[in-house]
Amino acid sequence: AAKRSAVGHAWYSEAQEAARLTHLSLVSELRGAVAASQLQMWLQPKFSLVTGKSVGAEALVRWQHPQRGFISPAEFVPFAEQTGYITMVTDWMLREALRTLATWAPLHPELSIAVNISTRDLQDPGFARRVEGMLQTAGVDPSRLRLEITESGLMEDAQNSVALLHTLRGIGLPLSIDDFGTGYSSLAYLQKLPVSELKIDRSFIDSIDASPGTQKLVKAMIEMGHGMDLMVTAEGVETEAERATIARLGCDVMQGYLGARPLYGDALQTWFDQL
Ligand code: C2E
Ligand code: CA
Ligand code: CA
Ligand code: CA
Repeated sequence: AAKRSAVGHAWYSEAQEAARLTHLSLVSELRGAVAASQLQMWLQPKFSLVTGKSVGAEALVRWQHPQRGFISPAEFVPFAEQTGYITMVTDWMLREALRTLATWAPLHPELSIAVNISTRDLQDPGFARRVEGMLQTAGVDPSRLRLEITESGLMEDAQNSVALLHTLRGIGLPLSIDDFGTGYSSLAYLQKLPVSELKIDRSFIDSIDASPGTQKLVKAMIEMGHGMDLMVTAEGVETEAERATIARLGCDVMQGYLGARPLYGDALQTWFDQL
């Protein structure tokens, strides 16, 4: 034990390395997971802060592993992005979202579903054409399928991202900037992006009622978004106080546990039935 504490730092790195290897072996199982239907698409409703009505939902992936049980996307998505396996997950999520949109359309054609897209997907030259093909197969209007890309993801490849987003927008897909406020983009850059929604990162909403500074920051983000004709959504709204604050600041849409958790199966159907 003495020896271990003396080289505590090295031991820590070994633990990190072990964790990394576990994740890598997990990610190598992803292909099989897709084939064996171990992935699930959960949907978290979004609500208008003006009417209180549902405006759509965000699709969130879940992995039901036969031995390890439930694996959260926070555990496998970053590794899937590094290895490129994420494109399989994205394609699967897009098909699921379109399948659901097709079943929703007869009753609620106004609802949209947002799917999370990673930089790896954007960099894939066949991506836009593939999405276009999926839309045609599903017979869904492109305006119903929203794509979310994180601000930090856009900044990884800022130059190319602009062109790629224009291609996707050209197909008719509405686009959103996810986790806004954490990615260091500039106003000049934002103005070049053909997006229609800004999603303010959960971390800001979390401290909005505890910190006057944060509240001022969120107010500025909402005003900036509106100045660019964007719809502004607050993520991670958990309390009535947070809802009241963002509504007062003029935010348009909220998403968070206060409105609804991510839903699946019967719970999702119950939400849909009472729309
Ligand atoms: P995200 O895109 O920011 O998604 C929102 C996350 O916040 C979800 O976590 C959701 O369950 C959680 N959340 C929603 N409301 C609240 C709230 O009121 N309080 C708190 N504490 N959390 C809330 P989830 O599903 O674990 O996903 C985590 C991240 O994994 C996502 O963050 C996204 O970056 C990534 N992810 C999830 N599904 C996909 C996917 O299909 N593709 C890709 N590329 N990434 C995904
Ligand atoms: Ca998202
Ligand atoms: Ca987000
Ligand atoms: Ca909070």
